[in-house]
Amino acid sequence: MKILVSNDDGFRAEGIRRLREALSTLAEVTVVAPDRNRSGASNSLTLDVPLRVFEAEPGVYYVPGTPTDCVHLAVSGLFDHSHDMVVSGVNDGPNLGDDVLYSGTVAAAIEGRFLGLSTIAVSLNTSSGSGRNFQAGAEVARLLVAQLLRKPLERALILNINVPDLPIGQIRGFRTTRLGFRHPSEPVVPAKDPHGRPVYWVGPAGPKNEAGPGTDFHAVSEGYVSVTPLQIDLTRHSALPVVQSWLEGIDG
Ligand code: MN
Repeated sequence: MKILVSNDDGFRAEGIRRLREALSTLAEVTVVAPDRNRSGASNSLTLDVPLRVFEAEPGVYYVPGTPTDCVHLAVSGLFDHSHDMVVSGVNDGPNLGDDVLYSGTVAAAIEGRFLGLSTIAVSLNTSSGSGRNFQAGAEVARLLVAQLLRKPLERALILNINVPDLPIGQIRGFRTTRLGFRHPSEPVVPAKDPHGRPVYWVGPAGPKNEAGPGTDFHAVSEGYVSVTPLQIDLTRHSALPVVQSWLEGIDG
């Protein structure tokens, strides 16, 4: 059993280190992760420059690139052996609702799925002043991987996991959830560079909007681990007939 661990927080991040330790009790673990924080990188590949791989220590590699670069490289050519599973995390911050579209954590898992592997993305619901219980996040990941080994799921599923930032003993259990929605993000934050020229910071994600029972937001706020099965197909199947009739007569 060989597990590839990655995430977008960079190879030095505590969440990756804790995850590696926890999964090492179940499998042979290799870490391939960006050289620095690339949170928000989504499913981006670096195509304009070649990728270089550096070994930090045996079994831990870092790449000046995106999380998707890392998983792509690791699964399709960097090693002579193959991996059985990709586990991305433990991310420093939640990936709830629409966050999954921007998330490098989820993207690393999606890339594993594209390449045919079982994948899990694990995020810890940290915020300023919260406990930073990465050990709990890693332990939750270990429980889920062990469960996957006992009871495999269809490989097309990507499991998006969000863990309340609590000690493991205070987490109330697991909930299967759907994605909620956030309000639109906060406006950009204007500032000045040292030469007085305007610069802008992308503002924080919006507050939760659709976050009622059954959503990932709700489960985590109630102290449960949220487990959301994701799919790649973004087609809005229910809109196909609407768009088909809307197109009628377009060419005169
Ligand atoms: Mn991150």
